[in-house]
Formats: sequence, C-alpha cells, structure tokens
Amino acid sequence: MIKMSNDSWFEEYRAKVLEALSNESLRKAVQEAQNRYWKARKKTLSKTPYYEYYRKKVREARTWALNHLDELLKMVKENVEAQGGAFYLAKTGEDANRYILNALSNHDAKLVVKSKSSVTEEIDLNKYLSDHGIEVVETDLGEFIVQVLGQKRSHPILPAIHLRISEIAEAISKVVGKELPPDPTVIADSVRNYLRKKYFEADAGITGANVIAADTGAVYLIENEGNIRFVSNAPPVHIAVTGMEKIVPTMEDAMDAVRLMIPNATGQDMTAYVSIVTGPSKTSDIELRTVMGMHGPKEYHLVLLDNGRTEMLNDPVFKEALLCLHCGACLNVCPVFRQLSGQVWGYKYLGGSGAPWVAFLFGWEKAAPIAYSCLMCGRCKEVCPMGIDIPGLVLKLRERLYERGLVPPPLKKIIDNLNKYGNPGGKH
Ligand code: SF4
Repeated sequence: MIKMSNDSWFEEYRAKVLEALSNESLRKAVQEAQNRYWKARKKTLSKTPYYEYYRKKVREARTWALNHLDELLKMVKENVEAQGGAFYLAKTGEDANRYILNALSNHDAKLVVKSKSSVTEEIDLNKYLSDHGIEVVETDLGEFIVQVLGQKRSHPILPAIHLRISEIAEAISKVVGKELPPDPTVIADSVRNYLRKKYFEADAGITGANVIAADTGAVYLIENEGNIRFVSNAPPVHIAVTGMEKIVPTMEDAMDAVRLMIPNATGQDMTAYVSIVTGPSKTSDIELRTVMGMHGPKEYHLVLLDNGRTEMLNDPVFKEALLCLHCGACLNVCPVFRQLSGQVWGYKYLGGSGAPWVAFLFGWEKAAPIAYSCLMCGRCKEVCPMGIDIPGLVLKLRERLYERGLVPPPLKKIIDNLNKYGNPGGKH
C-alpha cells in the first residue's frame, strides 16, 4: 500500500493556478508571444535545409558526451587552465555559490553585472551574493525589468512577457529617476544608459553558457542584446557558470548545437551575437612578455555544476532529460504554458520538460504539480530539437510520484475507488 503525503502542495498549486487563470493580461501576453514565435520558427526552419542533419548530429554528440562526461570534464579543466583560467566543478549549488563568493571576495567585489542564466537561478546566486553584501545587476532587458519589480521570470527567453508596458514604464521610471512614457524605445534607451555605467563600475561579470566545447574548453554565449559581450568583457573578472551536461566534444559540435538552438529558442536563423570565450584577455605584444587583461578581463573562471545531474545521469529513464538544450521550444507550443506561464507552471525549470529537472534538483514534491498538469498532448515531443520524449518522461515521473505518495486528491479518490470497487466511479 502506498502511503499518501499530505495535500498542502496540491492546495497551494491550485490557488496559484486559479489566480493565473483570472489574469487576462498575463494569458494574452503569453499567447501573443507563443503565436509570434511559432510563425517565426516555421519561417526560419522552412529556409534551413540541414535542420534534420543538425538534430541528428547534436543528439549524437550530446549523448556521446553524457556517456563520456568524466573524460570530457577533465579535458575542459585542462584546457581552461592552459589558457590561464580557473576551473571548478561544484558538487552542489552551495559549493558553486561559495566558490563564486570567494573569487569575488579576493577582489573585494561590491558590484557584479550579470547576464540571464537558468543555472544561476537554479542555485539562487543573486540572493546568496546580496546576502553577502554584493550588489548584482541583471543586464538582459527582460531580466532587469523582472529584477527591478522583485518578480520571477515567466519564460526562459522572454522573462518579462507577463508584464504590461505601463507597469514596466512605471518601474523603470523609479530606477532611472525620471518619468518615462510607455514606449519600448524610450524604456530601452533609458535602461541602456543606466546599465552602461554599471558595466565599467562592476568588479566582475557573471554569465551563463549555452554550450561548452571540451577540445578547447571554449564556452559559447548566445544573445541578441549585446549585454553578454559587455558583462564578459568590461569588468576585470569574468565568471561563467553553467551545468556540466552542456559539454560537447568539439568546437564543431558546439557550433552545430548553436545552429540548432537558435531557431528553436527565438525563431531566428541566427542571433545578433554568438561569443566564444576560452580564457582571460591577454597580450604578448611587448617583448613576448605576457600581460593578462589587455582589453578584457584579466581573470576568468569556469564553474560547472553537478547539483543532482549525476543522479539523473545514473537514472536509465531520466538521463534523457539531460539532453535538453533549454531552448524553450516546447514551452512555446504548450497549451498549459499558454494559460499559466512560467509564473505558475514550473519551479526554476519550467513546463513538462523542466519537471524531471525539478524532481532531481529540488525534490519530488516540487515536481508533482508540474507533472500532473501536463495534458500529454505530445506537441512538445514533436517540436523538441533533441527529440526528447517529454510526455513519456512525465508519465514515468508520475509513476515515481505515486510511489512516493504524491498524488492529487481527486486522483486519490479514483485510486481508492479502483482498489475498493474495481471501478473509478465508486459504489454503484
Ligand atoms: S525539452 Fe527540447 S524543446 Fe524543450 S527546452 Fe529542452 S531541448 Fe528545447
């Protein structure tokens, strides 16, 4: 007999769902974003003749990399150190935070500029640093808006889609100290001017990384705004933080992953910028003597995070989830996400594809509401560039949740009826 947990997780979630469903503007914004994305992606892919080739190649490269992860981690470490950088493999989020704080403390850092990153969100890095007296300023426009409002993002690529322009103008007006009209160009100009100073005042810049090539230790950073270039280049220290599953064997594999990721993430053929970083800035122009930090940072750290990924890797079913590129394509076609957005449907990692991540990284109870909300429509599986069987994983997740007694009360009733009366409806 499976022991059932108490139902507080279900009631809390139900309340949040009802609140999200009553928020008309949130739903409209998410729906508009999904529609636009879908059209853009379709148009781009119709002009991408090698799409299936990239899908196959990247899946093979990522699968091979997961099967040889220890070897590739060693290569990354050696290559980063050979370029004059520092490498750290963090077992837990706490380890990663402590390492980063220590690296910043060595410079008596007070201000950090940062680019959007799921992994830093996973480990609550901003809070950790601000609890230790370091100000962290987000520089992606959407993420900056969400940070200013003290909210959480509702989409991995478009963090502020749940907000109306009037709310954004009001919030940014307070930060820049003048009243701004509800005009995207004026708001973007004001934020740009505000952030420009921060890049050069900051003691360090922290970025994520989309892919890592083991053969050189290079990290690939994909963006449209240009903020990542400033974050990784203007301050004297650059710290890149990401999950260890993002390693692929070679730079060619990494570029294939970039080619595959972009149309699925933004609907574009290519973003405005893809930066490749292998270490600190340096010059040997004077008598061949090496000086670090010529125009860019003189110190570079690559922090890779385990934090439950090894457990996923060792799980024959959920290893598949580690192939995720976090492109968000599945969310952009998901009918549940369309109604609830990431404000409700997820915990740091969003939607059905995020559910196994939430279970392994943050606990099964947190994953339960996400797993049970999935409609099993299968659109995500169809669209996923890595061909991940997301509904299949969600189903397996429900089996494991059931084994842990995590079942929504209406389903419990059905299970009771089946056990007692042999039918889901109860006594007839
Ligand atoms: S599951 Fe597939 S579609 Fe969804 S974020 Fe991951 S790679 Fe993209």
